[in-house]
Amino acid sequence: MYYNKNSIVYLNGEWLNASEASTSLYDQTLHYGNGVFEGIRAYNTDEGTQIFKAKEHYDRLLHSAQKMHISLKYSAQQLEEITYELLQKNKLSNAYIRPLVSLGPNMSLQPVKEVNVFICAWKWEKYLGDQLLKVQTSSYRRPDPRSCHVEAKTVGHYTNSILATTEATKNGFDEALLLDVNGFVAEGPGANFFYEKNNTLYTCPLGNILPGITRATVLEMAQTLGVKVVEKYFTNEDVYGADAAFFCGTAAEIAGLASLDNIPFKLEWKNSLSFELAQMYQRNVIKRTYQHFELV
Ligand code: PMP
Repeated sequence: MYYNKNSIVYLNGEWLNASEASTSLYDQTLHYGNGVFEGIRAYNTDEGTQIFKAKEHYDRLLHSAQKMHISLKYSAQQLEEITYELLQKNKLSNAYIRPLVSLGPNMSLQPVKEVNVFICAWKWEKYLGDQLLKVQTSSYRRPDPRSCHVEAKTVGHYTNSILATTEATKNGFDEALLLDVNGFVAEGPGANFFYEKNNTLYTCPLGNILPGITRATVLEMAQTLGVKVVEKYFTNEDVYGADAAFFCGTAAEIAGLASLDNIPFKLEWKNSLSFELAQMYQRNVIKRTYQHFELV
């Protein structure tokens, strides 16, 4: 699914067949989870294949690496150029791109000098699908920002995400919503969260979440449309019975919720402001200017 016999990947300066690329079983990343990564999308646009917000993603990768004491000898610009080449070599236009920075063989708990840079891409549908999601508040919390750098996209952080999604799906839901260490709504396992009430959008402030690039795009779009956004702490109970809600992230794009803890959102998704933003996002990523609409 992620590659076939023709897929080419980038690994440490080389172009390799996906099935031939490998690193060591003794890698620190595999044993202890110190590594950083990104999730990026490219789209087939009117101006050809365009990586959506490549600079922002690669700046975040460099920031994550720095936070995790990983010395990465690439600039954001170089990584972007490699990624365009990767897409060309694989004849991909609409694609999901996964850069992974992993650390070499080392069983200590110290920074590692050997750094692997791996970039691959494949065609990937919207991560959470197109259906409205039944979401459950997780019993797991997002990690305490005093115990790790939550704003870094670190490999090991995703064990928390896996626990949350697995719990939710075992309970018959589609996805989880995690609270922060203080009991306020933080984010989904792989996406940020917004809800809508009386034509106002609410999302939590930065601090306990991954600072999503899609989240920033939603804030920009809301500003363009003159939609009020309030960044504040709120509980899952504040979200119950709101007008609409959505997850946003590169892989999921904008994914609407049907309910939280079995309490449905009030508006038909298609009548919500959130839906308008989801549509605007789709036009934005393919570089079509959004035609301003009238809010009713
Ligand atoms: N939060 C988490 C935990 C994530 O894994 C992601 C996906 N990278 C996001 C939020 C959304 O980030 P972005 O919009 O930059 O993809």
